[in-house]
Amino acid sequence: MQFNKVLENVTTYEAGKPIELVVREYGVKPESVIKLASNENPYGTSPKVTAKIQELAKNMFVYPDDSMYELKEALANKFEVESSNVIIGSGSDQILEFCVHAKCEKDSKILMAKTTFAMYEIYGKQTGATIIKTEDDQHNLEQFSKLYKEHGADVIFLCLPNNPLGECVDKDDVYAFLETIDSNTLVVVDGAYQEYASFKDEKKRIVAKDLITKFPNTIYLGTFSKAYALGGMRVGYGIAQANIIKTLYKLRAPFNITTLTLAAAIEALKDEEFVNECIAKNFEEMTRYEEYAKSKGFEYIPSYTNFITIKFADKFVSKEVAQKLLERGVIVRDLTGYGQNAIRITIGRNEQNTKVFEQLDEVLENLK
Ligand SMILES: *Cc1c(COP(=O)(O)O)cnc(C)c1O
Repeated sequence: MQFNKVLENVTTYEAGKPIELVVREYGVKPESVIKLASNENPYGTSPKVTAKIQELAKNMFVYPDDSMYELKEALANKFEVESSNVIIGSGSDQILEFCVHAKCEKDSKILMAKTTFAMYEIYGKQTGATIIKTEDDQHNLEQFSKLYKEHGADVIFLCLPNNPLGECVDKDDVYAFLETIDSNTLVVVDGAYQEYASFKDEKKRIVAKDLITKFPNTIYLGTFSKAYALGGMRVGYGIAQANIIKTLYKLRAPFNITTLTLAAAIEALKDEEFVNECIAKNFEEMTRYEEYAKSKGFEYIPSYTNFITIKFADKFVSKEVAQKLLERGVIVRDLTGYGQNAIRITIGRNEQNTKVFEQLDEVLENLK
């Protein structure tokens, strides 16, 4: 069968491995699996959110509120913008998809860092657009500028901070770059880990309202999947000028967000204290990973997120390390597919991290 030709160039996203797979293939007990490959909040969903989901479970025969009035209001309040500046998606992934499809067709151009969130390229290629990447792995805005001057771009992706490497460009540098960008280029500022970055370093903080006011050609994306501990509910949001939001809504299927999802997100927003505690613990625990890497002589990338990337240079092969850990019930992300001999580990809870170090010690010893 003949399919849309552009799909020949599209790869399928490889998600972090689920607990079920480790249980099935390696006989590890589900409760002993340590899943640190998808940057979820390891402290679990806030009890208030769980209670709300249980309360609503009996009403599942009714369609959700398709206007998403309450969640939009709650987000508009949080970000000090109007509801008309807010779009909700089934994960911020869905909004990434809308952004690309709203701007791109065959011969469009999309500019991004060499090593960044894989979905930017996948959505881009779905439209037949050309993907332009910097030479450096990490965000290098000078290279972005040079490539932009040379080729132009319909969409630019800035991942602040960047997944899977963890680095984050300073806000002032981002703004200086945005000054030079044409008003017809949509700049997507992916803030999936902004809560972490702005906690660690004020210089990294991007305030959505300020961003979209100064630069009306930008959209700020946030998600409930990471710091807000709702990866399973699939919900994210975009903040932009109303004309952009209105256009993105044209790409949306009706009822794309479930009743439970909407309610869970609203509850999660009420419990900022929980989120802040989790973020504080994240960075405490991260120092243990830094110490561990140093003690083994491995380089790591200083991270503004809830994960850390550890490089093995010529000492070990990351793919083997990740596989051996997997067999022991520890799921981490091998970055071979991103051209890195490195693993990305989500920062877990204290006791999980202790187990990770123990298992890593044994795995590395065996691979020597
Ligand atoms: C996790 C993540 C997202 C979005 O995740 P959703 O679960 O779809 O909201 C977007 N961008 C980056 C860089 C991410 O890591």
